[in-house]
Amino acid sequence: MFTANGYYSQLHGNYLFYEVGRRAATFAEAHPEAELIRMGIGDVTRPLVPAVIEAMHKAVDEMSHAETFHGYSPAFGYDFLRQAILERDYTARGISLDLDEIFVSDGAKCDVANIQELFSPDTVVAVMDPVYPVYVDTNVMSGRGGAFDEKKGGYEKIIYMPGSEQNGFVADLPQKRPDVMYLCFPNNPTGVTLSKEQLKRFVDYARKNGTLILYDSAYESYISEPDKPHSIYEVEGAKECAIEFRSMSKTAGFTGTRCAFTVVPEALTVKDSFGNTVHLRDLWARRVSTKFNGVAYITQRGAAAAYGKTGQDQIMGVVADYMENARIIREGLQKAGYTVFGGVNAPYIWLKVPGGDSWKFFDELLKNYHIIGTPGEGFGAAGEGFFRMTAFATRESTIEAMERIQKGGV
Ligand SMILES: *Cc1c(COP(=O)(O)O)cnc(C)c1O
Repeated sequence: MFTANGYYSQLHGNYLFYEVGRRAATFAEAHPEAELIRMGIGDVTRPLVPAVIEAMHKAVDEMSHAETFHGYSPAFGYDFLRQAILERDYTARGISLDLDEIFVSDGAKCDVANIQELFSPDTVVAVMDPVYPVYVDTNVMSGRGGAFDEKKGGYEKIIYMPGSEQNGFVADLPQKRPDVMYLCFPNNPTGVTLSKEQLKRFVDYARKNGTLILYDSAYESYISEPDKPHSIYEVEGAKECAIEFRSMSKTAGFTGTRCAFTVVPEALTVKDSFGNTVHLRDLWARRVSTKFNGVAYITQRGAAAAYGKTGQDQIMGVVADYMENARIIREGLQKAGYTVFGGVNAPYIWLKVPGGDSWKFFDELLKNYHIIGTPGEGFGAAGEGFFRMTAFATRESTIEAMERIQKGGV
């Protein structure tokens, strides 16, 4: 008899954004006249930049002629894109990598989930709290979470590294040694990022303890402070302990176009469950070539154009535009008396909820100001008491939202 994966029933509650959407829809139905301002879901809103569009149009034309048609992409991505990534994201920052350490994919979300196929079954996972829910939920689905413990406010087998006002939402080192540690900087949901010294502490810990770091830097291009690390490989020794995930989604507006990449350095050697010494790079290469058939040629041409001189100027213009929204939100909330974090090196503002109940605050914000945000509790137990707002709305609605909050009503 067929038996379904029972770990799915260990998942606690709905996917966060499903619940946010449900409450917003219920409100909208009851108040059709309300002009809702959406600052909840972390999706971009500006169109693809002209350089990307132009490259994609050209690629579409190429696909229409036998001489320039493209079938399956090379499994790890076209060299024209990997070369552009290598140069702009790594070589230019003094990091030396090889092309065959870069794997182009259709999303960082899938990659951070799929990477688990390289773990042995009993792998112990640590996450920061609050956290991007994908890391936790996918580990629960594969049995690495265990049951949800109401008292702990988390899954029994997962090690949580709590962020707080005291540590500025840069988690302390784990209390117990994990096999794998997910780090996300600049952080979603808190919007904070760390210094090179703080990152070095994690790298040193990982090397000393044989822990693998999974570093998600999907928001790297939002870093505005010059001394903040963009890549974990800026820290010495990181190539021996870390995999890095990047995405074109937030950087170049590719959330609907789909292009990302993962870096697995050759130097990352570990023991497998049979005691063999293996390169994780080779395992990932094997997994990708067996289970994935590449990203569309048209998409990769668009992504490569975002790395060109014109493309860079244009996408960084869009990023700057979102970051101006972030500044407006940050300062607007401060003026209204809120304590806020983030919004300087990431498009997220993390505010402290008066009274501490983040779902109650969600409902009040919706009812009184017709603004949709995201309750911190949805990102983990340590997120309770906080609330996330995103800088991806239009300038007009961002200003309008702050006016509503400052004047105390719609
Ligand atoms: C948006 C986001 C991603 C990007 O995922 P894609 O699948 O590439 O769109 C990755 N990590 C975090 C933390 C994100 O917020």
